Amino acid sequence: MGTEVDLAVVGGTVVSSTGVGRTDVLVRDGRVAAVGPEGTPARRTIDAHGLYVLPGMVDTHVHLMDPGPTEREDFPTGTAAAAARGVTTLIEHTHAHPVRTPDELADKVGHLRGRSRVDHGLAAHVWPDGIDGIADAWRAGVSFFKAFTCTTHGVPGLGETELRRTFEAVAAVDAICLVHCEDEELTASAEAALRAAGRVDPGVVPEWRSREAEAVAVSRVVDLAVETRARVTIAHVSSPAIAELVVAGRERGGRLSAEACPQYLLLREEEVLREGALRKFTPPARIRDQADEDAMWDLLRRGVLTHVATDHAPSTRGQKLAGDIWEAPFGLPGLDTTLPVLLNAVASGRLSWQDVVRRYAEEPARIYGLFPRKGGLHVGADADLVLVDPEASRTIRDEDVISKAGWTPYAGRRVRGSVVATFLRGEEIARDGRAHDVFRGRYQPGPGALASV
Ligand SMILES: [Zn+2]
Repeated sequence: MGTEVDLAVVGGTVVSSTGVGRTDVLVRDGRVAAVGPEGTPARRTIDAHGLYVLPGMVDTHVHLMDPGPTEREDFPTGTAAAAARGVTTLIEHTHAHPVRTPDELADKVGHLRGRSRVDHGLAAHVWPDGIDGIADAWRAGVSFFKAFTCTTHGVPGLGETELRRTFEAVAAVDAICLVHCEDEELTASAEAALRAAGRVDPGVVPEWRSREAEAVAVSRVVDLAVETRARVTIAHVSSPAIAELVVAGRERGGRLSAEACPQYLLLREEEVLREGALRKFTPPARIRDQADEDAMWDLLRRGVLTHVATDHAPSTRGQKLAGDIWEAPFGLPGLDTTLPVLLNAVASGRLSWQDVVRRYAEEPARIYGLFPRKGGLHVGADADLVLVDPEASRTIRDEDVISKAGWTPYAGRRVRGSVVATFLRGEEIARDGRAHDVFRGRYQPGPGALASV
């Protein structure tokens, strides 16, 4: 190799899903041109001695509320949090401003032009009267279809017949569906009983959104996925009991992915009693003791939980605490903290470096058709890189949160392993916890659009 490259990242410890080794990464025209000690001249050289070099993370479950309730989050702010903490590609959907048709997708793609610091795909919502439009939306380029089994966040729940038709339509074009699983009947009857009893204490959250309601819905969704052969991701798997239902479905031939979110790996069920709306998300946290926590990390490490996503759905403290527990919006901020808590899991021995890359970059990229362009540092991939200092420690603090939320449920935790810099297609987009003021993020159409070109 004689010709000059644009960027050389030299001397770092490069992490791929298959190995970890000291080598160089060379970038030309925004892509990885070579991985190896090539000694090639470069326009810019970054000394990465002592640092780990990871592919950019791929976060496939993100709500940036834009267009939508941008007082909660927007693309410029949410993608600043992503860039600063090592996420270079995300897949977004906003419940209050759903994409259901090719026209709605085109409008949103246009709206977001120049507003994103990272690459982004866009997911569609399935509305009961929109099931016939699934094939068209897939060919238009949506990344996946989001479905609910219960009416939540203003999105209507799908009944069994509607869900079956949805999965059949998804299977027919080999698309993929992300399903939020809680039983409509059980959650509605629990809500009615709790309200009738005059309950407004935060303890209503786990009683309303019960383990049983989640398990009943997951069982039904798994059965339908097995029957229809549709590719389905079970969103935010909250506990080992739910993971077992997914495993049983796989053993019957189900093409099932299982999403892990940090809140089910780290937060305790009882926190809601103390923190109220600041721990209102659904399904709620399920961990009760260290054994539960260990079991969840083990499921992630073994790949039973296939990939990590944040389910970033922020509200400010003021928005969370404005009304009673029933009125408070669901959801947590996550983009600021997800890679940091995974890096800390490496420091504490729960995960390997390769596990982080596999679970938060390669596997989500594979599941949603972004691989091999995203998710790895092989030749030809987009040069999305994260430089990590494995020794740097810091305490997570609300004042460092970039998301409009301005707070995090992980405040006060000490974490080791810190993102030093982030590169998107070979250009630096963040350094030392701050995103640069550049909006080079590109829309990434889903595989249905690429297939129909
Ligand atoms: Zn979500």
